[in-house]
Amino acid sequence: MRSIQTTIVFPLSSVKPLDGQQRYRERCLAEARKALRRGVQWRRECPACALTLEAFGDVEGLDYVRCPGCGSLFLAPMAAASDWALALKEVTRYRQSKDAFHAGITQSRYENVLAPKLDWIQSTLRLQQVSQPRLLEVATPPSDVEELLEESGLFSEVVAIDEMDLVAAPATPEHPAGFFDGVLMLESLDRVSDPAALLRALSSRLVAGGLLFVTALVSSGFDVAVLGLRNLYLYPPDRANCFSRRGLELLLTRAGFTLLEVSTPGVLDVEIVQAHLRQIPSLILSGFERQLLAATAETQAAFQAFLQQHGMSSFARVVARKRP
Ligand SMILES: [Zn+2]
Repeated sequence: MRSIQTTIVFPLSSVKPLDGQQRYRERCLAEARKALRRGVQWRRECPACALTLEAFGDVEGLDYVRCPGCGSLFLAPMAAASDWALALKEVTRYRQSKDAFHAGITQSRYENVLAPKLDWIQSTLRLQQVSQPRLLEVATPPSDVEELLEESGLFSEVVAIDEMDLVAAPATPEHPAGFFDGVLMLESLDRVSDPAALLRALSSRLVAGGLLFVTALVSSGFDVAVLGLRNLYLYPPDRANCFSRRGLELLLTRAGFTLLEVSTPGVLDVEIVQAHLRQIPSLILSGFERQLLAATAETQAAFQAFLQQHGMSSFARVVARKRP
């Protein structure tokens, strides 16, 4: 299995500034609460290892639970799929509106976030000797990469589907079961109400041997591990699920996939903790963590590189192949 590090470096402020995202976070929490008011089911079992979830804490009054086996985190109450789908659509629409937090940083998000994803897909296809695949993109519409994917010329066909529709959507004569050669899923597992069901549904759309590309925020990564639920990037509906790297591996393996690449090429872990300390001066950190945050830029860069090399950054990406 491969693991890839990156040499790209960019500041937190150029992709998701902490101070600028407060409004978006509040909107997300409001939409999640609205969906949950219409009725909830309590999540009791880890979808990756089937262990009973344990109380962990709350994000602004919304309870999260933790798997004692793999360390994955989950929002404890979950709304009906249709209500959750509505919340996801609302926050996506808001995020892409001009009021949203990254309206002013579209170009740097393209360069630092979206373009590297396309490079990753392209190099994987080359490595796996797959040419002109038919790609299913699983996302909350409107997808911010669909156009990029189409214009890349890498795929013979790109079809986007709402991640919350896929479980219930029947295969069509145009796109029957086993039709797609690849599936791209950017942080969908972090958001959906039933990640295991989503994986089953997308697997049925893939050919045997088809490739699955996944990115996720992982709870085993440095900034989430250090900050826990005080991490201001962790809130529903976007992060209703925060698998650990191990949890993600188990989930995919049990859904019938072989792992080809598991990397954590994140570059922002240390800076995220630093930004939280600036925002919340009373933040309780260990002596070691404070020492790290007071260290030179060179030391911090070396530590961030270590996190990447050892799979301990909070940004994970996985390539898996559907077993025959
Ligand atoms: Zn688990």
